[in-house]
Amino acid sequence: MSYEPKRFDFSIPVRVNLSSDTQTKPSRGMKEAMMVAEVGDEQMGSDPTVWELCDRTAALLGKEAAVFLPSGTMCNQVAIATHCRPGEEILAHESSHILSSEGGGAAAIAGALILGLKGERGQFTADTLEEAIRPVSRYSPTQRLVEVEQTANRGGGACWSVEALHAVTRTAHAHGLSTHMDGARLMNAAVALGVPATDLTEGCDSVWLDFTKGLAAPLGAVLAGSRDFIGHAWRWKQRLGGSMRQGGMCAAACIYALEHNIDRLAEDHANAKVLARGMAQIREITVEMPETNLVFFDTEGTGMTADAFAGKLRQEGVLVSTSGKYRGRACLHLDVTAAQVNEALSVMKQVVNAA
Ligand SMILES: *Cc1c(COP(=O)(O)O)cnc(C)c1O
Repeated sequence: MSYEPKRFDFSIPVRVNLSSDTQTKPSRGMKEAMMVAEVGDEQMGSDPTVWELCDRTAALLGKEAAVFLPSGTMCNQVAIATHCRPGEEILAHESSHILSSEGGGAAAIAGALILGLKGERGQFTADTLEEAIRPVSRYSPTQRLVEVEQTANRGGGACWSVEALHAVTRTAHAHGLSTHMDGARLMNAAVALGVPATDLTEGCDSVWLDFTKGLAAPLGAVLAGSRDFIGHAWRWKQRLGGSMRQGGMCAAACIYALEHNIDRLAEDHANAKVLARGMAQIREITVEMPETNLVFFDTEGTGMTADAFAGKLRQEGVLVSTSGKYRGRACLHLDVTAAQVNEALSVMKQVVNAA
């Protein structure tokens, strides 16, 4: 048993990479911005480009301050450790990334436990949250934090509406709980809903933005909150080894992404709809209609598991990912064109017909 990733089979050329929106490669313009970035020593506070990225992201998210971290996972872990003490409880959707995909980090690092809430498309209602509030007693864990994921990844890339968010964050605050948003795809939601990001982050005490998903930077994520919160988050950044040196090179890529790659997310959403409609025409496949850039589908009708289907597509140079026996995911992003969507669709038809 090894946790090391399997080495990619580089011998089969990739024609269309729908496996994740993390698959984007830095563009020439982005690399040029990185090359000319003014840099310093990030952990000493002397990298001007990192400061600029933090200030601009804090403003975009409507928060007082922000901190640059290597990844979204580290943003979640630093935020959780800053909010929670050992033995305290986080309430989050049962399909949330912090519960399923961060190696048990909340327990291992902060000593916090996570209570998984149920709900459609990766979201839960204020009523569900209310029902999960424990009476204060010597017996129960102290509840500390409510977490929401925007967009809800395993919920099909679904957007939390402004109203649904406000209802949940209001309920959390009424019970003295803090609120945290995993904003891995927050800008996809803002673009899809046609609202400023601040409308979506208003009720969240902490929120982060991933620059390596649809925004297409090579690394980096920014966690934002009150000045006091970010001041304490820095201690966990240091502890976890997330303090950087000439981080400005990477921050420059993120600033480039803020300037060039937000509005264009609408193209990914349009491509996702075309892909979903095309896949829905393959009778054997069931498709969840996308709200943003993620297209989830079910392969049971093809007689193939999602892994078998993905394996056959892989042979033809089309990459998708799987997240269940019959559940698969195709992600649209900057490096997938409308023409490549059609190319992927014809390969999918061919693979299903041959099965
Ligand atoms: C990708 C992702 C993360 C983790 O971000 P990384 O930058 O890959 O560490 C967290 N939450 C959600 C919902 C994600 O999709």
